Amino acid sequence: MTKWVYNFGAGEAEGHAEIKDLLGNKGANLAEMASIGLPVPPGFTLTTEVCSHFEQTGSYPQDLKEQVQKALQILESRAGCKFGDSENPLLVSVRSGARARMPGMMDTVLNVGLNAKTVEALAEQSDDRRFAFDSYRRFIQMYADIVLGVDACHFEKMLQRAKQKRGVKQDHELQVEDLERLVRDYKTRVFVELGEEFPTDPQVQLWGAIGAVFKSWTNPRAKTYRELHDIPEEGGTAANVQAMVFGNMGHDSASGVAFTRNPSNGDNHFYGEFLLNAQGEDVVAGIRTPSELTMQARMAHGNNSPSLEEKMPKVFRELMAIRDQLEKHYKDVQDIEFTIQKGKLYMLQTRSGKRTTQAAIQIAVDMTNEGLITKQQAVMRLHPSQIDQLLHPTIAENAKKQIIAKGLPASPGAAIGKVVFCADEAVQRVSDGEKVILVRNETSPDDIHGLHAAEGVLTTRGGMTSHAAVVARSMGRPCVAGAGHLEIDEAAGKLKIGDLVLEKGDKLSIDGSTGEVLLGEVPTVLPKVTGAFRTLMSWADEYRTMQVRANAETKADAILAKDFGAEGIGLVRTEHMFFAGMRITAMRQMILASDTKDRKDALHRLLFMQREDITELFQIMDGQPVTIRLFDPPLHEFLPNTEAELSYVARAAGVPVERVRRRATELREFNPMLGHRGCRLAITYPEICEMQARAIFGAAAEAGRTSPSKKTPVAEVMVPLVATLEEFKIIKGIIDKTAAAVQKEENVNFTYRVGTMIELPRAALQAGKLAEEAEFFSFGTNDLTQTTYGLSRDDTGTFMSDYKAKGIMAQDPFVTLDEEGVGELIKVAMNRGLSTRPDMKMGICGEHGGDPTSIDFCQRTGLNYVSCSPYRVPIARLAAAQSALKAQGERVTETRAARPRNPSFGPWCRLVSTRASSCARFRGFLEGSGHLREFSAEKSLGCLKGGPRQPPSLF
Ligand code: PEP
Ligand code: MG
Repeated sequence: MTKWVYNFGAGEAEGHAEIKDLLGNKGANLAEMASIGLPVPPGFTLTTEVCSHFEQTGSYPQDLKEQVQKALQILESRAGCKFGDSENPLLVSVRSGARARMPGMMDTVLNVGLNAKTVEALAEQSDDRRFAFDSYRRFIQMYADIVLGVDACHFEKMLQRAKQKRGVKQDHELQVEDLERLVRDYKTRVFVELGEEFPTDPQVQLWGAIGAVFKSWTNPRAKTYRELHDIPEEGGTAANVQAMVFGNMGHDSASGVAFTRNPSNGDNHFYGEFLLNAQGEDVVAGIRTPSELTMQARMAHGNNSPSLEEKMPKVFRELMAIRDQLEKHYKDVQDIEFTIQKGKLYMLQTRSGKRTTQAAIQIAVDMTNEGLITKQQAVMRLHPSQIDQLLHPTIAENAKKQIIAKGLPASPGAAIGKVVFCADEAVQRVSDGEKVILVRNETSPDDIHGLHAAEGVLTTRGGMTSHAAVVARSMGRPCVAGAGHLEIDEAAGKLKIGDLVLEKGDKLSIDGSTGEVLLGEVPTVLPKVTGAFRTLMSWADEYRTMQVRANAETKADAILAKDFGAEGIGLVRTEHMFFAGMRITAMRQMILASDTKDRKDALHRLLFMQREDITELFQIMDGQPVTIRLFDPPLHEFLPNTEAELSYVARAAGVPVERVRRRATELREFNPMLGHRGCRLAITYPEICEMQARAIFGAAAEAGRTSPSKKTPVAEVMVPLVATLEEFKIIKGIIDKTAAAVQKEENVNFTYRVGTMIELPRAALQAGKLAEEAEFFSFGTNDLTQTTYGLSRDDTGTFMSDYKAKGIMAQDPFVTLDEEGVGELIKVAMNRGLSTRPDMKMGICGEHGGDPTSIDFCQRTGLNYVSCSPYRVPIARLAAAQSALKAQGERVTETRAARPRNPSFGPWCRLVSTRASSCARFRGFLEGSGHLREFSAEKSLGCLKGGPRQPPSLF
């Protein structure tokens, strides 16, 4: 017989933490807490398999009812009361809880079991009639909304009216008569809406609540959340039925939430909030501002209301002991929920605490130093993509800023955008290309799309664990919460701060690390790899066996790459050195030249710029390998498009515009990705290759004289888009000849290597032959994916989501390497290349070099290095270390903090798989992950300001 129901309570449990798939996260951890002796109200869990059965068949398994009744009996004997009893009634909560955390996305029903009789018993037992009727009206409101589908706004209106009538503002100021009347009115409203009485039978209520919890697995909110967080659709939720405990039973009762350490910055301080005389959802809803748990936090925040430590010292000490016990047991930070009922502490939940990347790193390093986990475990603790969160810009230290308000620093990083007050508008404006800050009194799960679209979130109410704070942290969005001096007038589209009034659309900056709200647009800076981050990265480097290089061609990118720990440059796209400013004119002149003389003239101008740039790269990398690829300019990126551009190039070249136009027409190709590009250019125009070789070797000679170490770098010259050995030989001949000439002219001896990219299936298959001449291989997996699949890098963005939806591709192959096809070609090429030249170095320089899953493939396949965009270098370092550790049998710990979304799929997809590859792909990555949008285009990617598919305009 299948076991559908698992009991827990009274110091024992049938389940445990390891069977999360069956019991859901909440159920498994309740069982675990019960079995380690923590004060957990007794209960039972209906497994996720019940949900799946329910979804597939529309009914429950046959023997479920019987198992639930038995479990209920056990629960009754553990709780010492009886479900539906008119003297000593048991009330239960019915809560959802899936395998993966989906906070607030599914439903919960509290106080199940209340009716006209049991409410009287509750009143008598608690000696608090007001409390009993408040619980009853909450129950009707919640049940009617969640289970019966009656619009919640009816009840909200009635509640408002009751408060107006009584002349009070807060719910808890209502008198018992008001609540009794509300209960009657609520029931009448249910009857009016549904034509049926509100259910009074506790068994009916229980099954209604269980059904609603299971159904909530497929509500739109939950579906969106799963889509955004890559949580599989299958799996379902468990339903946890648990004896109710009440935090709203007077002033010796309370509800609270806490993290065992600070989830924002990782400090080893107990971190949380509580509300006296309140139920748990009051704390997270952010409707009342909670108080601090510790005295230290209260003083740090200048809060006057007493902390739990001061208010209930005995309970606080008990809670502190549980905090320690949980951390030692789970060896991780826990996010807990507790209730104090008449001075007695109950634990309602523990789960691994979601945290910012900064906190995740700090905690991993601290826990290693405290001896709780090993260094290897610390390295395995973060998903490499989380590091992306650390690349948030922060407000520049010396920036001029006008602080207009202050709230809680709920999620770190700076965000700048236009003020919007509603989630839908946030989405609309972002899809129109604007950046927005979502400003709300508080957020609810219905705002999730707005939170996702916005640069950052600002709320006027709620604490560090309010919905806005938790969700923003999990999404990696900066958030300032509870900025109480702000006043939102949504109808008028205004935000008031004292005398200052901001209109919807006005610019605002927020600093989620300090809680500051700043007027206008404030300059930001990038963070550095320091402190715990540096420590963790250095541990990662201890275990890493693959090298990590960067794809970089500008001075700024090279410096950044080195700062981020790159061990060389794996790809200098030399044509990209001419994207910026007026340089493109010289490049265009060279491309458009109609005879050798004109081309040589243009090349001569390029030579000096090229030599200077490469010298700089050699100097910065100072002895580390630098792989310089010969020109690979797809013509569509460089041909002038407009009349103005044509005449500008003609003027600069001193030739009639007609001639330039004719030549541009001649050169235009339908698909330049497969056309006259890569080494084919140098085959047709050897002088191009000669110029570049001259620039590279001249730069090497000069760097040998001028770089800090005075070492002459070993230049690695890379030939792009090679298909045949003959092509490679011709080009290598030119390079060798030029190297000899430069050595003579400069009177130096230097070593250099000439290698090839493997970007075409033919090159992969011919790798054995190519290795006779080529001294290294670098897999250009952008083009290799394109040419293997026959998919254009420029166009797949438009239909890739259909492919994913139909299950044809699990991942965009331009993001995560297609192991079955492209990966197979790489393996063939490696085997064949190594059998010809056993000591050959091989790496990857396509964008996959920065993708953790693809990096794992590179490790398993035995590549020597990965090379990726500078901002991905730390990600690649960590991913490579994890792959190496995995190969040694280290287990990946489930990562808890937010993972940036996959940039290539989903409604947010703005990524174009374009040929201006590293730049555009990186830009897409940044856009996809929601960070660094500004500086990426400005600083390192100036070339792409006009959009990824267009060469920059000259004017
Ligand atoms: C590649 O094709 O993978 C590559 C690195 O070259 P590019 O993106 O410049 O075509
Ligand atoms: Mg390529």
